[in-house]
Amino acid sequence: MVIGRLAEGLTRGVDTVTEGISETLFEPVIRLGVTGLARAGKTVFITSLVANLLDRARMLALVAQSEGRISAAYLQPQPDLTLPRFDYETHLAALTSAAPHWPDSTRAISELRLTLRVRPSGMLGGLQGPRRIHIDIVDYPGEWLLDLALLGKTYEAWSDQVLARIAPRAQAADFLALAAQTDAAAKLDEPRAQALAAAFTAYLGGARDAGYYDCTPGRFLLPGDLAGSPVLTFAPLPRPDALKRGALWREMERRFEAYKSRVVTPFFRDHFSRIDRQVVLVDALGAIHNGPRAVEDMRLAMADILGAFRPGRNDLLSRLLRGKRVERILFAATKADHLHHRQHPRLTAIVESLLREAETRASFAGARCEAMSIAALRATTEETVTHEGQDLDCVRGTLLGSGKRAAFYPGELPEDPARLMSAARQSAQAWLDAQYEVMRFAPAPLTLRAGEGPPHIRLDRAAQFLLGDRL
Ligand code: GDP
Repeated sequence: MVIGRLAEGLTRGVDTVTEGISETLFEPVIRLGVTGLARAGKTVFITSLVANLLDRARMLALVAQSEGRISAAYLQPQPDLTLPRFDYETHLAALTSAAPHWPDSTRAISELRLTLRVRPSGMLGGLQGPRRIHIDIVDYPGEWLLDLALLGKTYEAWSDQVLARIAPRAQAADFLALAAQTDAAAKLDEPRAQALAAAFTAYLGGARDAGYYDCTPGRFLLPGDLAGSPVLTFAPLPRPDALKRGALWREMERRFEAYKSRVVTPFFRDHFSRIDRQVVLVDALGAIHNGPRAVEDMRLAMADILGAFRPGRNDLLSRLLRGKRVERILFAATKADHLHHRQHPRLTAIVESLLREAETRASFAGARCEAMSIAALRATTEETVTHEGQDLDCVRGTLLGSGKRAAFYPGELPEDPARLMSAARQSAQAWLDAQYEVMRFAPAPLTLRAGEGPPHIRLDRAAQFLLGDRL
């Protein structure tokens, strides 16, 4: 067992060596990956999770806490010295200031180490003293995960697939017009390459805003420190018949290959491969509101994401992961505070049903998967309003911008998730039409008692599923 852990410690990457052997041997480390597409709620989730693990009065569903076995929690220097640190203090200050506001969203990978001092449960508890358990939280954009699909593709195949897929989309019109005017067999002209990449990036941004989930390459939207570099200056182009050296198409091909080998592969090898537990946040309510096509897209994205956690299907990935695999995956529908709690079981049933479909689609087996609806930071209160003789279950919150407080009725989710799914496939009925559109809430001002973290919905249950069995 010790040898096993030592071996694991050694494969955990170069930076980790700085931790010191004794720590990797005797103090367990759980690497918790937090991902989701842009605006899914990663930053708010991590900030509230950490705040609620530091002050645990609202974490009763975390069994180690309700059993009184967690005696301390504190932040520590992270093990990976070259990764940006998750800016917890700034994000928490945004949420808890006198005029609370939402923090800046995730733009790249970052990490934070939280250490718990925990007394073991059962017989061992009496024999051993408390031990330290490190939780390394790794935040990364879900868009980077979807890039996995690029690894197995040539530039030519990728271009053909992307061009066919985006042809009917209005957001792609400008890019497609520019691509049609481009002679890909002509000699590379850097301003033309840049214009193509810029137009393609603009298309990806428009597609994402319209609710499409297939917006890869992921770094085009979230470039981090690669912004403007040649490795992000390419775009899909049809292959010309005759190709000379130095042709624009050839150069685009070279950059696409570099994107795979220098950007995508290192992310999977150095970061993704080390994750033990994973939470995938999905803005299911936003997708349901955006309409059937967005729900269908979310379903496909969930299958793609699950595919990344099942290395057996992908040779390249299996080699990068070297036999290691994620043990638990939680799919959590975020922002559940937009709905009255009576509708939460319906939301959970929808995400569960999407998850089961995604599992079947990706023939996924292995990690334990669960679906949940949560709000990392509860911004609303509930009330029932009588409107034209009918009782409506509403939520009340402060609107961003105007600062007005008001009660809203977002509409009903279907009782049977199959109805939403079949509507999605037939592009039929829409849900959450009522007032969901205007429900852009500001975080509520907080008055926290000693020992209390920010208010949430089921964040403690999420923590129990992700970490509870190791505490
Ligand atoms: P990221 O891009 O995944 O890091 O997303 P963020 O964590 O920045 O969240 C995006 C936005 O979603 C925030 O600015 C909030 O407007 C909203 N949001 C996230 N979590 C919650 C929540 O628990 N409740 C509510 N009401 N809104 C949330």
